[in-house]
Amino acid sequence: MNKVIIVGSGNAALCAAISALEHGSEVLILEAADEKEAGGNSKYTAGAMRFVYDSGEELLHLLNDPNDQRLEVTDFGSYPKEKFENDLLGFNDGRPLSPQQKILISNSKETIQWLADHNIKFDPIYSRQSFQKDGKYIFWGGLTLEAKGEGVGLVDAQLKRVIELGGTIEYNHKVTKLQSENNTINGVVCEIDGNEVFFKANAVVLGCGGFESSKKLRAKYMGDQWADSMVRGTRHNLGAGIEMALEVGAAFEGNPEGCHATPMDMYMPENGNLDIPFIERKQYRKICYFLGIMVNADGNRFVDEGINFRNYTYAQFGKAILKQPKGFAYQVFDKKVEHLLYSEYFFWDAHFIESNTLEGLVDQMQNVDKNQMLKTINEYNLAVDKTVDFDPTILDGKSTKGLELNKTNWANALDTPPFKAYPVRCGITFTYGGLKVNDQAAVINMDGNEIKGLFACGELVGGVFYNGYPGGSGLTSGAVFGKIAGQSAASKFNDEQ
Ligand SMILES: Cc1cc2nc3c(=O)[nH]c(=O)nc-3n(C[C@H](O)[C@H](O)[C@H](O)COP(=O)(O)OP(=O)(O)OC[C@H]3O[C@@H](n4cnc5c(N)ncnc54)[C@H](O)[C@@H]3O)c2cc1C
Repeated sequence: MNKVIIVGSGNAALCAAISALEHGSEVLILEAADEKEAGGNSKYTAGAMRFVYDSGEELLHLLNDPNDQRLEVTDFGSYPKEKFENDLLGFNDGRPLSPQQKILISNSKETIQWLADHNIKFDPIYSRQSFQKDGKYIFWGGLTLEAKGEGVGLVDAQLKRVIELGGTIEYNHKVTKLQSENNTINGVVCEIDGNEVFFKANAVVLGCGGFESSKKLRAKYMGDQWADSMVRGTRHNLGAGIEMALEVGAAFEGNPEGCHATPMDMYMPENGNLDIPFIERKQYRKICYFLGIMVNADGNRFVDEGINFRNYTYAQFGKAILKQPKGFAYQVFDKKVEHLLYSEYFFWDAHFIESNTLEGLVDQMQNVDKNQMLKTINEYNLAVDKTVDFDPTILDGKSTKGLELNKTNWANALDTPPFKAYPVRCGITFTYGGLKVNDQAAVINMDGNEIKGLFACGELVGGVFYNGYPGGSGLTSGAVFGKIAGQSAASKFNDEQ
């Protein structure tokens, strides 16, 4: 029987495993972490997945609870293919859609349906992706569903399905090398308790994450500044899959400096940590800047906080903060928007300062130019266009006028005490550069040919994201390329019989 080895046990690898099993292969998953830490970054996610859909009707059969009463007053809108294309193009710095991006978009809908057919179900993201308006839940930003039980629920459900279909998984099996014979990958070398052990296979699928957790590779590919970034997810994604494949001649694809990085509480733990209860772990993120302003240590704003819905900006603004003097910023809000701030701002371990006056607030700020800080806030307040109504469900056009850097939507004056300021810095989520694959998810070498027997999926596939990321696309990319990689690894062998 055809044997496929899958490296890693996150969303991408597990999708590859389900797909290979479905296509008649024996599947062995090799995972570097122990059982508790397995599941990679996928377990750290909210399980939100972006995909093309034409109407709310199409979502119903994907839902964990299709009888939820709220559905009767929910407007999911739609997310056409063209919108997904534009969302990705918006981060391509003028480049056309890459072949990998086209694969992601055109397979997104059927792949989510495929997951649901394998009993991996979804819930609407009412709390973060909808606002209530006129008695209705209005979804915005094209992102509507998250996996039942968020990232942990997603990975658990996928692993359950793998086991049901007859797959097996070995923990504490760190893959260190790809082995080949007659120019075809025929297995992997694993490090187990300090010993090297060879595992033979007909095909290998790499689904073992990017290099975001490796200080050394971050500095090498992204620049020295990145060595000190905090890491939001697993400590096991050290770039091994990419390095192993490069060693056997694979081509590197995409933007080596590109990454997903978000504003995080200044004092978050240095690494992601699954020991922190899930509900608390995600609370270190601080992404409601669109309701206020962000100001750096020199006392200056540095991004248009309202340039777009936050799931088109949050993955870029971590990097913007890292590049500021001293690598941090303050997010400033007033009482008017407090009820709209996400729960993470009320987390017991959220760090903030508070005052009834702007002067009192600025006075408590540390390591900043206080004069310039106050000047910036006052200038911002004076520049707010008060003739336009604030509406967080749409790009409301309520902007500042005449500033060197305007805020183009949701620009409320900071005029209602108490005022709060949250210190934030950059946390890296995952890297964008990686291996070049074709439409079969086969890894491509420097001459443009397939490396026989080697497939890849998930974070370590390059060319899917260039300089930014519409929220919820990472898991979908992993699922899309995982499904294809599993099928290819299984059927390549069948073709050759
Ligand atoms: C806090 C956080 C929140 C996020 N939220 C979302 C979200 O809501 N929606 C979304 O789309 N994306 C989200 N992302 C991004 C998302 O996590 C990734 O895009 C996706 O999970 C990557 O899946 P993957 O399977 O490629 O990698 P991973 O899930 O990271 O899996 C890689 C696996 O490979 C294992 N591994 C590594 N090296 C080896 C080796 N040498 N041998 C064997 N095994 C190895 C790792 O231990 C790990 O289990 C989030 C990320 C983080 C950190």
